[in-house]
Amino acid sequence: MALETGTANRAGTTRTAGPTDLAVVVEGVMKRYGAVEALAGIDLAVPRGTVLGLLGPNGAGKTTAVRVLTTLLRPDSGTATVDGLDVVRQPQQVRLRIGLAGQYAAVDANLTGRENLVLVGKLNHQVKSTSRDRAAELLDRFDLVDAADRTVRTYSGGMRRRLDLAAALVNRPSVLFLDEPTTGLDPRSRNDLWAVIEELVADGTTLLLTTQYLEEADRLADEIVVIDHGRVIARGTAGELKAGFGSSRLELDFDDPAAATAAASAVPAAVGTANVEGAHVAVTLADGAKAVLEALRAIDSTGLEPTRIALREPTLDDVFLSLTGRPTADVAADAAAGAAK
Ligand code: ATP
Repeated sequence: MALETGTANRAGTTRTAGPTDLAVVVEGVMKRYGAVEALAGIDLAVPRGTVLGLLGPNGAGKTTAVRVLTTLLRPDSGTATVDGLDVVRQPQQVRLRIGLAGQYAAVDANLTGRENLVLVGKLNHQVKSTSRDRAAELLDRFDLVDAADRTVRTYSGGMRRRLDLAAALVNRPSVLFLDEPTTGLDPRSRNDLWAVIEELVADGTTLLLTTQYLEEADRLADEIVVIDHGRVIARGTAGELKAGFGSSRLELDFDDPAAATAAASAVPAAVGTANVEGAHVAVTLADGAKAVLEALRAIDSTGLEPTRIALREPTLDDVFLSLTGRPTADVAADAAAGAAK
């Protein structure tokens, strides 16, 4: 399961990365805030040109890891390098090579989109004409030409995130860090942003992405590292994680709860674990296709007729639940409660 330095890239070819092929290396990084161990000694390796998805619930330590790697925070111990440069000893050089777009768009709402990008160019010591050209290029690429000369205050959340991502690219970074890039976006804006991120990756940018969305890690990342309470609890490709921790699930709806309960109790324990919720039955299957047939035969023998049958292959949500004991729905609810405070 462990997939340290060899990975399948998006073209589907597998290669083994040597140390110089690694854009990001993290070894035993720890960071404590008083009594809270935000990072309890994590190891990461991101081969050049690949995407690492750092997946975890609220408070797992994702932002802390990104802050260490982007030189904004000094680790208590351990080492981290980006593009072969030590983030503690060579922070200035690291900053020249990286781009960071955060959970909350960091652009200035009082400036226009174009002014924001030109300003970032200036801060990166670009000459005026270069910063203007780069701003125009990025506005075009991120579909912000029409809104380029409006103040960001008038932008939608999705537009702000796109501008924030554009701002992170002004300097043509070789390694890009995206900290929960789509948190709070509606499904359409999220999809738009994913498409833009996929283009960047296709162009060869190395990406470290943090996310609470399993779907996002599944779609964008070559390798996924799951963290919880500052510790790596699993790593692998989405496929490996699903194969290792997920189970197929048979879902059935009945006309009423009594029928659902009777159907669930007909499923032998060796075939799967049946849970009833109202008139819905979910059977977590012990094993592949044979278990599906056995479960259906057992239910059929009761004479009860389901109104709907669906077979769900394992998702990363299942993986997360089996690893942390917490469903992602709870995580999302916690996040919403936190945001409402
Ligand atoms: P989220 O998804 O909510 O952004 P996260 O995975 O990014 O969460 P971190 O922000 O890295 O998590 O936080 C890890 C832990 O460290 C949490 O328990 C958090 O409360 C704590 N923490 C983070 N920053 C500070 C700080 N400046 N002072 C004290 N505790 C902090």
